[in-house]
Amino acid sequence: MTDKETEMTKLAAIQTQGLAALDEVSSTEALEAWRVENLGRSSPVMAVFSSMGKLDKELRPVMGKAANEVRQTLEAALEGRRQKLEEEALQKTLATEKLDVTLPGRPMERGRLHPLTQVLRRIIRIFGDMGYQVYYSPEVETDDYNFTFLNMPPYHPARDMWDTFYTTTEGVLLRTHTSPGQVRVMREHAPEPIRAILPGTTMRYEQISARSEIEFAQVEVLVVGEKVTFAELKGTLDDFAHRMFGEHARTRLRPSHFPFTEPSAEMDVGCFVCGGEGCPVCKETGWLEIGGCGMVHPVVLEYGGYDPEIYSGFAAGMGIDRSTLMRYRIDDIRHFRNNDIRFLRQF
Ligand SMILES: [Zn+2]
Repeated sequence: MTDKETEMTKLAAIQTQGLAALDEVSSTEALEAWRVENLGRSSPVMAVFSSMGKLDKELRPVMGKAANEVRQTLEAALEGRRQKLEEEALQKTLATEKLDVTLPGRPMERGRLHPLTQVLRRIIRIFGDMGYQVYYSPEVETDDYNFTFLNMPPYHPARDMWDTFYTTTEGVLLRTHTSPGQVRVMREHAPEPIRAILPGTTMRYEQISARSEIEFAQVEVLVVGEKVTFAELKGTLDDFAHRMFGEHARTRLRPSHFPFTEPSAEMDVGCFVCGGEGCPVCKETGWLEIGGCGMVHPVVLEYGGYDPEIYSGFAAGMGIDRSTLMRYRIDDIRHFRNNDIRFLRQF
């Protein structure tokens, strides 16, 4: 036999043996092993390529072409086998995992907004219509912003009303109201006029009960500018109450005291449960308290960077939890943060 004949016979044997072995392959793992053995770097067909240099010059192109054909044949056979295996696997799955289309579908659970979020968004929308901007300030505050800048220097007795949680860093605490944001907005915008609302979570150190939680949401209202008057405060709150509780909602202000406003007032709306006649929700008074308000104290204006001789402002703070409780006649404030789906899906 000539060299050429010998090499050709060798190549034919490589192809025959490879194809025969491929017929035995019945899994993807075995297929990969076959690929390594028959087409990998140290496979017989690759060995033919690397030993090509030892052949006569005239023989090389002929043998190269023949070896290439063998390799292509093996590659095509591999691909064919792979498709066949995949098809078999699919048929097997289809046979074993039959789909019963007569089974009723699983209904999609539709989420909805938390009642507090719904009420908050309503408040934001109302003040948004009046041209207010929403401003978020930190829930972890410094003692200065939470107390001192709001006219409650250290040892001021009013601090007792707002006991809170302190961090291990001295002078850093969880804010007890949204009012610290007043000074932050003022410092950011002084001496420009301000019309802002500041919603957010606040914390107090309290005995948890049906009426009190350690965590609750508030909305702060702040207006600062030249010649802002108490009449505008009253008008704004009136307008808000009408939009929030209905055109016929009645409001009243009662004198009160807060260190950061002067004068200060509590704001009530006519009880929307009994219409003012007296019921258990309003404790027979006909009125529901929705928040505190007043003219921004000159000391607070100064801390905010506004000259109280030129500028004035009003502020109000409303508890969202309490008004949501009243609005939906919920009997226990703790429901809000228990994440009980039976409660939440009622809204
Ligand atoms: Zn009532």
